[in-house]
Amino acid sequence: MENIQAFKRLMDSPRSVVVVTHFKPDADALGSSLGLAGYLRKKGHRVTVVTPSDYPSFLAWMPGNREVIAVSKDDPRPLEAAKAAMQSADLIFCLDFSNLKRTEDLADTIRGSKATKVLIDHHLEPEKFADFEQWTVASASTAGLVYQLIKELGEEDLVDADIANCLYAGLMTDTGGFRHSNTTRMEFMLASELVGRGADPSCVAKLIYDNNSLERLRLTGFVLAQKLQVLPEYRTAYMVLSADELRQFGSQTGDTEGLVNYGLSISNIRLSVLLYERKTEIKYSFRSLGDFSVNELARRHFEGGGHKNAAGGTFKGSLADALKKFLDLLPEYRAKLNS
Ligand code: AMP
Ligand code: MN
Ligand code: MN
Repeated sequence: MENIQAFKRLMDSPRSVVVVTHFKPDADALGSSLGLAGYLRKKGHRVTVVTPSDYPSFLAWMPGNREVIAVSKDDPRPLEAAKAAMQSADLIFCLDFSNLKRTEDLADTIRGSKATKVLIDHHLEPEKFADFEQWTVASASTAGLVYQLIKELGEEDLVDADIANCLYAGLMTDTGGFRHSNTTRMEFMLASELVGRGADPSCVAKLIYDNNSLERLRLTGFVLAQKLQVLPEYRTAYMVLSADELRQFGSQTGDTEGLVNYGLSISNIRLSVLLYERKTEIKYSFRSLGDFSVNELARRHFEGGGHKNAAGGTFKGSLADALKKFLDLLPEYRAKLNS
C-alpha cells in the first residue's frame, strides 16, 4: 500500500468498519472478507461484513459466517441493516472487486458514504473511488493481498488458524487449486506462511471441493453429457443452462461454479463459456488459455470484466438472445482464437 503510514495511523484507534465484497461471492471474496474481519476484530475494531447477495453453502464453514449480513431479494431487512452500517462506518473495505457496480444495490450507498474507502483487489482496470488501495493484478487472490497488507502492518502474528483458513481458501480457489497460470512462487510462499499459521490444506480442500450435494454432481453429469458444445473452428466450448434445467436439478447458489472449467479441459480448446439464467438477467462465465483476454471480451460486449483468463458478464434478455450475441461475435475473434 502506497500511503501505509497514514493507513496505519488511521487504524491505530478502534474504528467502526464495514467489509463488503462482490455479488454472489466466491471463496476468495468471502474468505478474504472474513479473514480481514477476523484480524480487524482482534485489533479491537467493530466490524460488519456485508455481501450483496447470498453465497454457496460450501462457504458456510468459514469462521465469522454467522455474523455476515447477506442482502436478499426476498427480505428488505438485510439491505437496510447493511446500508445503516455503511452510513455510520468510519471505514469501508471493498474486497475482491474493482468496480462498485459489482456490489449491486449497495453501490450508491458506498459511493455516497463519508467513510474512508479501502480497496483490496486484483481485478483489471479498477475504478478510482478508494482513499487507500492494496491493488495489483500480480496477485492471484485478494486473500493473498489481505495477508500481505497485514504483513506490511507488521502484524502477521495476529493471524490465527481461523483467519489463515479463510485466506487459504481464497488463495486455493482463485488459483484453481494452484493450477492456473496466475500461480507463481509468491502464491506458494503465501500458502506456506498461511499453513505455518494454522491453515489446513486438506481440510479446506475437502470443505470446498468435496462437499457437494448429490444434485450438484448430477447437474455436472447432465451438463457434460448433454449441454457441452464444441466449436473446433473457434477452439471454443460453451454450455447453456436454462432456469428450468437448473430447477430440475434443485440447483442452489454456487452449484454452477467450476462448470465452465470443464470446457477448457478439452484439448485444443482456448475459450470456454457458461451461460445461465438468473432471476433478472443472463450470467456469462468466461475462461480462456494463453493470450486470449476474456476480460476484454467481457468488458467490450457483456458489461463485465475480470481477469485476462477468467471473467464474467451479464445480458438483459432471453437466454437464446444471449447465446446468439456470443456466437455472432466468434467470427470476429476467429484469428485470435486460432493464433
Ligand atoms: P465468474 O465467471 O463469475 O467465476 O468470474 C470470473 C472472474 O471475473 C472473477 O474474478 C470475478 O470476480 C470476475 N467477474 C465476474 N463477473 C464480473 C462482472 N460482471 N464484472 C467484472 N468482473 C466480473
Ligand atoms: Mn471473486
Ligand atoms: Mn479474487
